[in-house]
Amino acid sequence: MQYVSTRGTAMGPYQDVIVEGLAADGGLAVPESLPQIGDRLEELRALTYPELAATVIGLFATDVPPTELARIAHESYNTEKFRSADIVPLKQINGGMTLVGLSEGPTLAFKDLAMQFLGGALDYVLTQRGEVLNIVGATSGDTGSAAEYAIRGRDTLSAIILSPQGRMSDFQRAQMYSLLDDNIHNVAVEGNFDDCQHLVKLVSQDLDFKRKHHIGAVNSINFGRISAQITYYVWAWLRATDAVSATDRAGFEVSFAVPSGNFGNILSGHYARSMGVPIRRLVLATNENNVLHEFFSTGIYRPRSAEQTPATSSPSMDVSKASNLERFVYEVVGRDPERTAALWRELDETGTFDLSSELARFSEEYGIVSGTSTHAHRIHTMRATFEDAGVVIDPHTADGVYVAAFFVEPAVPMLVLETALPEKFAATVTEALGEAPVVSAEHQALLALPQRTTDIANDEAALRAFIEANAKH
Ligand SMILES: *Cc1c(COP(=O)(O)O)cnc(C)c1O
Repeated sequence: MQYVSTRGTAMGPYQDVIVEGLAADGGLAVPESLPQIGDRLEELRALTYPELAATVIGLFATDVPPTELARIAHESYNTEKFRSADIVPLKQINGGMTLVGLSEGPTLAFKDLAMQFLGGALDYVLTQRGEVLNIVGATSGDTGSAAEYAIRGRDTLSAIILSPQGRMSDFQRAQMYSLLDDNIHNVAVEGNFDDCQHLVKLVSQDLDFKRKHHIGAVNSINFGRISAQITYYVWAWLRATDAVSATDRAGFEVSFAVPSGNFGNILSGHYARSMGVPIRRLVLATNENNVLHEFFSTGIYRPRSAEQTPATSSPSMDVSKASNLERFVYEVVGRDPERTAALWRELDETGTFDLSSELARFSEEYGIVSGTSTHAHRIHTMRATFEDAGVVIDPHTADGVYVAAFFVEPAVPMLVLETALPEKFAATVTEALGEAPVVSAEHQALLALPQRTTDIANDEAALRAFIEANAKH
């Protein structure tokens, strides 16, 4: 399988694409064609989660030997790392909905599912090549910790993750800062998340510095993450249809609701649907930062400024733009790299582009519908889900449940992706339910562990000096 940039440049096979991330022409890597699995789904029913992951990802990673993919999948998805024997368990709630448990991994959010695999896959590629990679990134909580738990202890990789001093929850801080592995570096910046992101951008733009210190990224546009996420859409369809009679299973449609930010998670659902998994609707749920709902309901894409992107009670969805959207737009314009590049040029020049002429196709052809929630909606949904089904959900998942309710149809299971566990967002859970979520003994112990960070000023020279002193070579 070969990859091309959405703006036209050839990008080589999977191994090159996961190490490089962004294409040199500014576009995103996409497979030259999408593999089909619609008529093979019954062959996959008996597979365990790691076996399914190796099979699904193997369709995209044709340059990685199947035995290596199987090893990486088993090392990524096991009960030492995930609290559920199913890895991704399904749980029925009220209103014809089922939660798809994507948050059983080490950091209690769905990003572990992709990041654990990507860590193993990068380690494989770098070992083959005799290279090392220093992952430099900024986090407001979820992404950085998932990256650190995927990279810790690996000889070929280190993580240098910037976080804003004093702005994360106690739980998020404990989770990241208690990692004392030699190859994990938590850098606490005097500033906010945007400052952290800006510092990372400054050093990454210096190509000589980047090359000299083997700097890389594992952000949400990395196709390794997108490919790994496709697995759980296939898995959820298989588990949701286990109880359907064998004669009715073929073509049995389910819908998914996806709490969305950078359009990474739902893009994997879009690929699963294009590969032949019987998915009726993909319900895109946003919070107050609803740039994606605006696009899917008007056809106009207009990213926002930091000032127009308020902090909400579902902070992992607080995005000003949706970095993966280009891959969807590429499909909408018939996989035409010139038209894609022209739209992004227009975006750079005017701050917006207009695809309203194609709006009807978003739902009719691609099944994507959208909605948006407010803080009050999420609080109400958390309370109602607890009262009706006895299940505590986190504010991101609540956004999905709230928006999904508008699109539930008779005889079509609505599978809502649970993107984080409530323990991670205790303050909002307390506001909704009047009591704090139960914190396991294991996580109480986590809060008490010693923590290590390096504090730096909001200053590019300080970050450069830290990288020079700590990057692997
Ligand atoms: C990252 C994240 C999201 C958004 O996912 P995207 O792939 O960026 O759309 C939603 N919920 C939680 C808890 C997250 O960590």
